[in-house]
Amino acid sequence: MPSLDTTAVHAGREGLTEQGVHAVPIDLSTTAPLPSVIDGGLSYEQMATGGQHQPGQSTVYQRLWNPTVARFEEGVAALEGAPEAVAFATGMAALSAALLAATAGAKKHIIAVRPLYGGSDHLLASGLLGTETSFVRPEELAQALRADTALIVLETPANPSLELVDIAALVNAANGVPVLVDNTFASPILQQPLKHGASMVLHSATKFLGGHGDAMGGVVAGDPDWSKRLRQVRAITGGILTPWPAYLLHRGLATLPVRMRAQQESATKLASALAQHELVTQVFYPGLPECDPQGLIGTQMAGPGSLLAFELASAEHAERVPAAVSLITHAVSLGGVDTLIQHPAGLTHRPVADEAKPHANLLRLSIGLEGAEDLSADLLQAIESTA
Ligand SMILES: *Cc1c(COP(=O)(O)O)cnc(C)c1O
Repeated sequence: MPSLDTTAVHAGREGLTEQGVHAVPIDLSTTAPLPSVIDGGLSYEQMATGGQHQPGQSTVYQRLWNPTVARFEEGVAALEGAPEAVAFATGMAALSAALLAATAGAKKHIIAVRPLYGGSDHLLASGLLGTETSFVRPEELAQALRADTALIVLETPANPSLELVDIAALVNAANGVPVLVDNTFASPILQQPLKHGASMVLHSATKFLGGHGDAMGGVVAGDPDWSKRLRQVRAITGGILTPWPAYLLHRGLATLPVRMRAQQESATKLASALAQHELVTQVFYPGLPECDPQGLIGTQMAGPGSLLAFELASAEHAERVPAAVSLITHAVSLGGVDTLIQHPAGLTHRPVADEAKPHANLLRLSIGLEGAEDLSADLLQAIESTA
């Protein structure tokens, strides 16, 4: 088995030499020539019901299959150690498809382990997709299981508190109900949930996988049965990833391991600078021993990652800090090459119910590739000048 570094660079690049090219070709065709009505029709039917495109077959229509998107999917599947992956327009389109795939039968009940990304929490709480959701803490899972529970959704590290959940323990408590893990914060470089028993692993590819803040996408990796159902939902409901962002996201995979390591190194430094600062009341970073009581760093997760959150003494102070940074950008999103700060209670987690909303004195940072000293100087001056 090649290392993750090698896989990140090479997966999804098969056959380029035979095509006489070095970069991945971007195929923008929305439609494709058909050999005959019969063969075209059979290809259409096969892909619209979730089947894989076969070599030599017409791709028929971009909503069914696209070779540039397929290369990105191969790259993600290889990194997650998954047989297959299915890509979508955004992370939310990916989650929607996973919910529809899981609840296509009679079972409509979802268990969501809080905390979750605000958008995911919002989608599940809305019931818009015909699901009924019980929100639980990890230790409450077993009591929440019902005969009609179709899927368990969990995120680790969680957004925005960076809490870690023991995936294997949760899968065990799930008693055979499939578990979907949102792996956006860790990326496959630090954590591969399928190895711990998860059925599906989801990414907002908009974040670390792309890594440059210039392309949106989502992806779900899993076994061929889930993948077939996800492709069918995608073909029918249309939340496809298109070729140009697929190219950018796939290109991002090549540098994912080095970005992750460098960003994590700076995040570790910033977490300790914040932890020692008198104006900071609490720091949430999985690399701090008090934030990893179960000892999951080094076992479930190869490292603590590059997201951290911290609390100040008051909500007013926390709301002033994002306006006082200059090198760091005040913006939502995460996982890119530049450092971002945001106020979860006011922004990303605004739609979340009050009882589960992050504290209003909490700020979240996504650490980029800038020098750690420059970041810490900018952040600390912003905290001190607004106190
Ligand atoms: C951003 C994000 C999503 C949603 O992804 P989009 O690409 O914005 O639709 C889902 N989960 C997590 C953890 C995220 O950070």
